[in-house]
Amino acid sequence: MRIHILGFPSIGKRREQKQALEAFWDGALSVDALSATCTELKKRHWHIQKESGLDYVSTGDFSLYDRMLDVTCMLGALPERFTPCLGDAPTDRYFSLARGNAERNTAPLEMTKWFDTNYHYLVPEIDSDRPWTAGTHPVVADTKSARELGFSPKPAIIGPFTWLTPAKAPRDVLKWSRLDAVVSSYVNLLTGLAPYCDCIQIEEPVLCTELLPDDIRGRFHEAYATLNAACPKLMLTTYFGALGRNLQTAVGSGCAVLHVDMVRGRKQFDDILNALPRDMALSLGVVDGRNIWKIDYSTVVPLIKRAVSALGKDRVLSGSSCSLLHCPVDVTEETALPEHIRNRMAFAVQKCAELSTLRDIIEKEGAGSAGGYAAAAYAAPAQPREQHPAGRVEAVRERVAAVTPDMLSRRSPYPERRAAQARLNLPPLPATTIGSFPQTDAIRKTRLDYKRGTISEADYVAVIRSEIRKCIEKQEQLGLDVLVHGEAERNDMVEYFGQQLGGFCFTQNGWVQSYGSRCVKPPVIYGDVYRKHPMTTDWILYAQSLTKKPVKGMLTGPVTILCWSFVRDDLERSEVCKQIALAVRDEVQSLEKAGIRVIQIDEAALREGMPLTRDEAEVYLRWAVDAFRLAASGVDDSTQIHSHMCYSEFNSILTWIAEMDADVISIEASRSGMELLDAFTDVHYQGAVGPGVYDIHSPRIPTEEEITRLLRRALRHIPEDQLWVNPDCGLKTRRWEEAWPSLQHMVAAAARLRAETARR
Ligand code: GLN
Ligand code: ZN
Repeated sequence: MRIHILGFPSIGKRREQKQALEAFWDGALSVDALSATCTELKKRHWHIQKESGLDYVSTGDFSLYDRMLDVTCMLGALPERFTPCLGDAPTDRYFSLARGNAERNTAPLEMTKWFDTNYHYLVPEIDSDRPWTAGTHPVVADTKSARELGFSPKPAIIGPFTWLTPAKAPRDVLKWSRLDAVVSSYVNLLTGLAPYCDCIQIEEPVLCTELLPDDIRGRFHEAYATLNAACPKLMLTTYFGALGRNLQTAVGSGCAVLHVDMVRGRKQFDDILNALPRDMALSLGVVDGRNIWKIDYSTVVPLIKRAVSALGKDRVLSGSSCSLLHCPVDVTEETALPEHIRNRMAFAVQKCAELSTLRDIIEKEGAGSAGGYAAAAYAAPAQPREQHPAGRVEAVRERVAAVTPDMLSRRSPYPERRAAQARLNLPPLPATTIGSFPQTDAIRKTRLDYKRGTISEADYVAVIRSEIRKCIEKQEQLGLDVLVHGEAERNDMVEYFGQQLGGFCFTQNGWVQSYGSRCVKPPVIYGDVYRKHPMTTDWILYAQSLTKKPVKGMLTGPVTILCWSFVRDDLERSEVCKQIALAVRDEVQSLEKAGIRVIQIDEAALREGMPLTRDEAEVYLRWAVDAFRLAASGVDDSTQIHSHMCYSEFNSILTWIAEMDADVISIEASRSGMELLDAFTDVHYQGAVGPGVYDIHSPRIPTEEEITRLLRRALRHIPEDQLWVNPDCGLKTRRWEEAWPSLQHMVAAAARLRAETARR
């Protein structure tokens, strides 16, 4: 039985890739030095895979920024606005697409979440039928060099349908008219790769969704016939769910191997075994690429044995469910975790080893041994985490059981709340921000010093307070209407809360790539969650004491805390979410009691947590929206509840967003030119809306005219008494030199439109 992974995290166990990229962007590192660091990392990761006993090492999983962008560049599918970049060095052009080009005032490609993960990719844009000038794909060079170094590479590339389906185009016809051109570019790529490998992983996770249009599904076979004719070594790779009604499409693709996600798609196992053609091998993704817990051999081994007895050992492969990109690198880096938690964990390095153990079990048993070794490895059912005393807190279970429906609703419907909130005395088109302000090196250093114990608590509080004071002063100067404290005390919007809640623990190095050079270190929920003490009130009250304008209390919502954590696998996610919601509710009530009149509960991850099929999505949205409501509803009508959502496509769930019943929502929109606004008109959204008018993920400074134009567009869809003015997201990744003029332009644009509408 061959074993493999679908990809290894590229960042490096100490985030070496991030450091190199950022140094390169700052001009402190040459392109050669950047590429040397990347080569080192690739080699290190290949060695890990080989030494674990995997049959292949993964290539093409390592991208300078994003793997969708790698395909975009291979195809040469550059939108018109990047034409001036065509003469640039390839690396510069690549980063212009990813991050925009400030000198030329060119906005980057749109960024959105990769299926239901917290990884963000760059969305392809097809803006015309201009022919493309094909470029190269880094997987070719990497595969050659892996081969030269004596590894057995398995190139991993995103497939044509998964590249085209989410592409933005003025018309679908225009988009799919490119299919042949795209396929022929892949043919070149595959022929170039074929001499260096005996298996190529072509990824079509879009088959695990309902996104593929019906008329296009029909073209799948034809396209794959062309690809298979060019290279008969393809592993059609699917992940993030079951194949659902795309099962026939997948098994009929003519590829040599089909890879399926057996963590999320296990229910389709029998159907797949039955439908698999004789000449197709099956790769079972049994090691969870999206979580940090050890494999449970007792459930996985029987599954593989069944596949082996149905198909024969040569036709079965075992692998990770998806790329290990979504889990941290190495658990041996963790020296501070409680033993009872750490010894249940497996990160990327350990997951490679698990596959090797798995093969040992299968081969030894298959050879007819009594299975003594194997039996010991997997027969004993893992002790449920819950049984550990730290995992279960009776008071939490009782509180969750006692939640009543009225706790999920505000006292009055929105129009009455709106009247009660008039006490805030806000102007029309109120201007605000999403929460965080630039995190300077000084701020980061202060937090680190405090964490390391090199400064006292009193000193720490003094420094953060002075940051809050500066932040309030700047916002007063800018003329914003609802102020924030700036989140200087927060390293991360989830970690900050997790650190103060029961049931959470933290890794030291458990970083996972979020996009480009950005990494997150998700907290780990191992036990029942509860609030120990107020978490934000001191900072927010201090900020409010400095100004007459309302200061917005800033919280992270239950769904986002859940989605951005690694979650225990012995309790339903919906139950864990309810526990978190009660903890956030406590905090909301504390803020209100202390006199805070505006409270924002960020649900940045609401959309990304959504399962990929409609039925599962409905179930999820119900409990997710209810969790938000449970967190938000314990306040008076006059307290204004905001929520913020970003970097996803929200049109399709707008009715659910309305169901959240927040008084004000701010939502990402600027990169997509406000296109989500049409949906607001359709849904007759009654609350207030702040579509983001300044793309904070790019260093570019938007002009006042540009923001004015976006706001004018917004006013065509959202009545002026419902419109708020704000950036797309928090400003923590920006520098003051960028944030300050951008916010000036934003406030000026708001003022201009306010004056215009007043004259009308
Ligand atoms: N309040 C957070 C901030 O401003 C929201 C971040 C987010 O949505 N990702 O940083
Ligand atoms: Zn955001």
